Amino acid sequence: MSDAGYDHATVERRWQEAWDDADVFRTPDNVEDPTYVLGMYPYPSGKLHMGHVRNYTITDAYARYRRMQGDDVLHPMGWDAFGLPAENAAKERDTNPRDWTLDCIDTMRDQMTAMGFGYDWDREITTCTPDYYQWNQWLFSRFHEEGLVERRDAEVNWCPHCETVLADEQVEGEAELCWRCDTPVEQRELEQWFLKITEYADELLEAIDDLEGWPNSVRQMQRNWIGRQYGTELEFHVEDYGPVEAFTTRVDTIHGATFFALAPDHPISEALAEEDDEIRRFIDHEADPDGDEPNGVETDLTATNPATGEEIPVYVADFVLSDVGTGALMAVPAHDERDHAFAEKMGIDVRPVIAPEPDGDEDPTAPDVSEAAYTEDGVLIDAGEYSGLDSETARERLTEDIDSAEEATQYQLRDWGISRQRYWGTPIPVVHCDDCGPVMVPDEELPVELPEFINTTGNPLDAAEEWQRTTCPKCGADATRETDTMDTFVDSSWYFLRYVSPALEDAPYDRERANDWLPVDQYVGGIEHAVMHLLYSRFFTKVLADNEGLEHREPFTNLLAQGMVQLEGEKMSKSKGNVVSPQRIVEEYGADTARLFMMQAAQPERDFDWSEEGVQSTYAFLERLKGMVESYVDEQPDGDADAVANYVDAEIEATIAIASEEYEALTFNKALRETQDLVRTLRQYADYTEPHAETYERGLSAVVRLLSPVAPHIAEELYDELGSDGFVAEAAWPTAEVDRDYVAKRRRLVENTREDIRDIVDVAGIEDPTGIDVVVAPEWKYDALEIAIESDAENLIGELMQESHIRERGDAAADYGQDLQAEREALSMSLESDDEYAALESAAWLIEREFDAPVRVVRAAEADEDVLANAEPGRPAIEIDD
Ligand SMILES: [Zn+2]
Ligand SMILES: [Zn+2]
Repeated sequence: MSDAGYDHATVERRWQEAWDDADVFRTPDNVEDPTYVLGMYPYPSGKLHMGHVRNYTITDAYARYRRMQGDDVLHPMGWDAFGLPAENAAKERDTNPRDWTLDCIDTMRDQMTAMGFGYDWDREITTCTPDYYQWNQWLFSRFHEEGLVERRDAEVNWCPHCETVLADEQVEGEAELCWRCDTPVEQRELEQWFLKITEYADELLEAIDDLEGWPNSVRQMQRNWIGRQYGTELEFHVEDYGPVEAFTTRVDTIHGATFFALAPDHPISEALAEEDDEIRRFIDHEADPDGDEPNGVETDLTATNPATGEEIPVYVADFVLSDVGTGALMAVPAHDERDHAFAEKMGIDVRPVIAPEPDGDEDPTAPDVSEAAYTEDGVLIDAGEYSGLDSETARERLTEDIDSAEEATQYQLRDWGISRQRYWGTPIPVVHCDDCGPVMVPDEELPVELPEFINTTGNPLDAAEEWQRTTCPKCGADATRETDTMDTFVDSSWYFLRYVSPALEDAPYDRERANDWLPVDQYVGGIEHAVMHLLYSRFFTKVLADNEGLEHREPFTNLLAQGMVQLEGEKMSKSKGNVVSPQRIVEEYGADTARLFMMQAAQPERDFDWSEEGVQSTYAFLERLKGMVESYVDEQPDGDADAVANYVDAEIEATIAIASEEYEALTFNKALRETQDLVRTLRQYADYTEPHAETYERGLSAVVRLLSPVAPHIAEELYDELGSDGFVAEAAWPTAEVDRDYVAKRRRLVENTREDIRDIVDVAGIEDPTGIDVVVAPEWKYDALEIAIESDAENLIGELMQESHIRERGDAAADYGQDLQAEREALSMSLESDDEYAALESAAWLIEREFDAPVRVVRAAEADEDVLANAEPGRPAIEIDD
């Protein structure tokens, strides 16, 4: 490939070295408030994949764009280096996770450099080094001091294959499979460390409204994850066991409660299971909270409805979750889908007590609940003294009237269990003493470093006996170290702060600088992090704001979740064998081609299909552009600054205006389409006539700069060939005098005019036109149009006729007035008449080229009256001779 094309390997290496030598991407500590552009740091799995390449091309292109706009830019990179895969890989390869991880990092850093990503490598962070993870431990102690750490027994998700506890978020699908290995997950009871994220549930929820730079989908996912519900907590008296607390959002339906349900691990369920084999069997073998249909078993107990005194049967049911609400609920089959399904299956009464709001004075009538529950609010029926109340009033009244009832708020969000029974993570800085219990390791003894890796089937830290043995920081007695390590999401919850001062030795981040430099202005990463990573980072930021002098409560101002790179509509994956390797693409076509192809293929948020043809044509485009620059430099043209040059000049302006706006919005594909159109225009220009050197060079220079954020190496090469000083990476972004609205009008005028000529040639069957006149509308029509747009008068023509210079046009004014009246809703302002004349004059060459006939652009003053009748602002009259 490289014999036919340009020598991309040499070009790319040259500029990578030159950038490095000149420290182009370094962010000095003394800059005031750099634009902080960040891609989610990768897990060092061994090689970059296409998802990485896309993610980091987006941030790199944006960072380069901002730098050319004159901003100081912070664009760092690091490694999410702890985690289970390294441990598994080390076992397979008979090495240790540290060496394996550091090797992977070296490989991937080289690949990033080869992609031309401009990072400040002086700020590189690697989470598996004690320099970094000591601050995880330090932060854990601070959270502990603030009462945000708790140790408690908890049912945990346990993957028997990975031999580790998984977070709920790491258990996938209805089959409950481990996210890493697809093994079915089991439940186990273990003492676990928790971070109390629920303390921040309200703020985490409410502040989502202000995250205007985030995609709505991500904001909604976070809202759902937090899942705040307002309702009522109240007690049902259960026979033999006394009062049992239940939570409901629909206490207005309490008169329709026909059974009471307990979670399988509710203390009463467990007590019953001791005596009752059927309940035991259900709890141990049949209960499946994620199953398609609700399952349960009846007990001999009854519960007393506190509103009616009625005794209703008690079931143990798997759709009741012990960690949501209270693990017990009143079930109202007439007004809840799940309760309805369960009642139908078990033959329990379905009793409607809410009716739809009736029309006018009619009485409310019970809804038909034979097939499905009626779940809307409405009017209470068959509810004693509450009948006739609307749902909302009934909820308030019942919560007041029932003795045990009070308003309550419930969340889906659970505290964050961070204990992992694995080696390759941050040791939890705790010592267990027989007398003192768990004791924090004092700050001055941090970091608690990992011992050497031991290859065992279980947790290597349990096997590291020497390492475990220590003394109690409180009483000095013999004690043992905690062998759990932290969830790696702890590492990523604050890493964006570490880049600010990566080598700082006495704190996780430099406060003053963090306050100046944060929040991250533009964050980019995969949608799979919409909940956990982003929510945990928000939580950490808020805790640090409350306790560690951080003056920001949100870490990421703007968030972009990039789409997937697919192959034939499918996600690329090793298991499907449909992976396109970035290494091969870079070798064959170069990094610029790979980057440019990806950025022009689709908007960053969208999925798109990898296409080898697309890659080849991108490569061909860069090659042609290089050819254009070289032939220009070899032999400068000496054409005139004529109308054609004016047209090209206007197109350069237009491209800069539009591309800049699109870069600003990170819609690189649109910016690049404009830039490529300009290259086409320049090529047509050189084909048509001897170009005006200054104009042509201005065009090439604009193209090079507009392309440089995405295809930086070849842009440097061409910038250099054009004789510019310094790096294009540090050059000023081109600026335009025109705005986008003006550009759109001008282009529409030219396009419509060409379209009209085509139509006339077509309809009149003109084979060989010998001359084309394009006649611009008279001045008064522009005035009339403006009046029509601004006027809200009923009688537009009357208003127009108040203007003497329009009135004196007589019938022509009346005719045009009628046209305007007819299209009043759709009118839009055209260019001024002089600008229209100039635009058409400069575009005449395109028409000449297309129809192979001389073109005259005629001002109204020089045209015949009958021709002028057809000329309107934005739509000149056309006269064709043949
Ligand atoms: Zn697993
Ligand atoms: Zn002790």
